[in-house]
Amino acid sequence: MLSTVSIGSEPMAVGYSISSAPFNAIHLAVSGNHWSQHIPTPIFPYFVSQTLNPVFPVADQIAESIEIHEHISSHEAYEKALDMLEMVGIPRERGVEYPHQFSGGMKQRVVIAIALACQPQLLIADEPTTALDVTIQAQVLDLIRNLKDQHGTSVIMITHDLGIVAETCDRVAVMYAGRIIETGTLDDVFNYTLHPYTEGLFNSLPNINDRKAELKPIPGLMPDPTNLPEGCAFEPRCEYACEACKQQLPVSTDFTATHQAACLRYAEPGFHIARGKKHE
Ligand code: SF4
Repeated sequence: MLSTVSIGSEPMAVGYSISSAPFNAIHLAVSGNHWSQHIPTPIFPYFVSQTLNPVFPVADQIAESIEIHEHISSHEAYEKALDMLEMVGIPRERGVEYPHQFSGGMKQRVVIAIALACQPQLLIADEPTTALDVTIQAQVLDLIRNLKDQHGTSVIMITHDLGIVAETCDRVAVMYAGRIIETGTLDDVFNYTLHPYTEGLFNSLPNINDRKAELKPIPGLMPDPTNLPEGCAFEPRCEYACEACKQQLPVSTDFTATHQAACLRYAEPGFHIARGKKHE
């Protein structure tokens, strides 16, 4: 994907490849108010640790972003900034305070407020609720959902938390060692799980209906991304692996119109993993 990448209002590079971006970002918001096939898409990354300027009050920093992108007066932008602060659970009176007066979680919410203030058309949220307590986490997810429903914002949620996926996503793509190994609707992936790695993720979760059940973690470690196995990258950890899995890289295969997975064993008639229902 090629795009114009900007930090704040300063263009950083044109034709920047997202796939090569240094992704330790917590949030990456695509703002700008209009997509165009002819104009590179403006991308505005917001990093929790780097976005906030320590010498300006937080409301001023949110307002600056709104003023630049929405071309409204400073006063209107400031009022909107205070509204955004309230939306992320921070009292408006605290808008005059500086970043060092906020906890890490509150700073994260301020950055979320900046990212959402201009109602971006696409929001890429990379672990947006990490380090937030469950109450604030629920508020942030509500905020993102409202943005999606009320303003038609598309959201790409990047997370390790399957609960967040279940609450916020319509389509799911599961990645392992840099590749998508299963993709489908939320119902497909959660109820008709196909890939052994996805099964392993679900098996690693506590079962609230059986408090004595032992967790079943996926054995082994992630492979070195610079030295991936020749065949399926999940093979050393997969309980279903066969000889062919060591040699051959599985390709994504359609199981239904909406559900795809990359696993060689499905070439064998009748193969299915233990978890979930089978597609008819
Ligand atoms: S291709 Fe083989 S090793 Fe890879 S997930 Fe499928 S069964 Fe497991």
